[in-house]
Amino acid sequence: MDSYDFPQVTQLAIPFFVAAILIELWLVRTGRAKGSFETRDTLTSLMMGTGNVVAGLLLGVVSYWALLWLWQFRIFNLGLSVWVFLAAFLLDDLRYYVYHRIAHRVRWVWAEHVNHHSSQHYNLSTALRQSWTGLFTFMFVLQAPLVLLGFHPAVIAFTFGFNLVWQFWIHTETIGKMWGWFEFIFNTPSHHRVHHATNPRYLDANYAGTLIIWDRMFGTFVEELEEDRPRYGIVRNLGTFNPLKVAFHEWIGMFRDAFAPGLTLSYRINYLIKPPGWSHDGSRETSESLKAAYVRRNPSEAGKPGLPMAGAGPAEQLFWLLRGVARTAITHQRFIVATAVKDVDDANETVVDNISDDGGMLERNRSQSGHDVVAGAAAVRRIADGNDLQYEARISSLLRDFRQTQLCI
Ligand SMILES: [Zn+2]
Ligand SMILES: [Zn+2]
Repeated sequence: MDSYDFPQVTQLAIPFFVAAILIELWLVRTGRAKGSFETRDTLTSLMMGTGNVVAGLLLGVVSYWALLWLWQFRIFNLGLSVWVFLAAFLLDDLRYYVYHRIAHRVRWVWAEHVNHHSSQHYNLSTALRQSWTGLFTFMFVLQAPLVLLGFHPAVIAFTFGFNLVWQFWIHTETIGKMWGWFEFIFNTPSHHRVHHATNPRYLDANYAGTLIIWDRMFGTFVEELEEDRPRYGIVRNLGTFNPLKVAFHEWIGMFRDAFAPGLTLSYRINYLIKPPGWSHDGSRETSESLKAAYVRRNPSEAGKPGLPMAGAGPAEQLFWLLRGVARTAITHQRFIVATAVKDVDDANETVVDNISDDGGMLERNRSQSGHDVVAGAAAVRRIADGNDLQYEARISSLLRDFRQTQLCI
């Protein structure tokens, strides 16, 4: 099996990265250049970059071995020439575009890529905010076609190093727009600022690595506008500088959604493969819903790059209208049923309450009645006893009178 020992381009570039960050920091802090730094944010980015290198050493070998195994099945023997390197660079840049587009549109891959977007600042240190969990997305399979075409995995890794170095210097606000031809062909600071922005028109745009032509070709290019300055970060920002949370929060959130109780299997799968923000009840925001809401608020912006047309065709409008009506009707019906069920429940509860109240009253009455009867009987008896005594006293009095009368006679 062939083995090559090409230089580790990104590792060789680390001193250059550090020096460039310090120069940019100095330029921004002294007011000589545009930009913003926050110490904790930059430290987090540096920790993410370090973790990425460590993860690459520990886990990167797995994907590299898999591609090396595939190498034996290559179709062509391309050899090593300048043209092979250039072709590898070009095709791998296209592979990166495809990967990056999937990373923003499939939550399983977004879970890994989101951390690169988690900073609310945009400076050279943001470039180092790289993932630790890339292997787990299995996106290295996108390199398989190149290997099968005859590009050795070492050649692909070597050329991708240049791609990453290119992607470093474009993470800056200190450089405005560059020459027209350059902006047309290459991914530049201006284009990548758009990619990191959360403004509705900039969401899901400019996926390029080195060449912006892929975005222009596949309809995902959006120009940076002077009147809509980029706001950086993610739609729902993390509010943490903890690198562990930055690295794993979306994986945790995704699995929490996918394993939530009471969902159908298709909902669970959709939580893994649908775009970020998708939810089974439509309660969350996706880039589509954010763009649509923006156009509703700003109708004159409809149809501009990165934004949908406001007015859908009559058939589509009718569809949305009927869907809305049906949804409202269903919701209303559900509400009525829920209210009725609650009414019945309440009624049952009242009956039960009443029965227990009545039971209590009956019980009380019974004991009261019992008490009364006893009391009555006692009273009767008392009266009777009293009567008896009175009767006896009366009789004996009469008898006495009668005897006296007899004696008198
Ligand atoms: Zn991205
Ligand atoms: Zn970036």
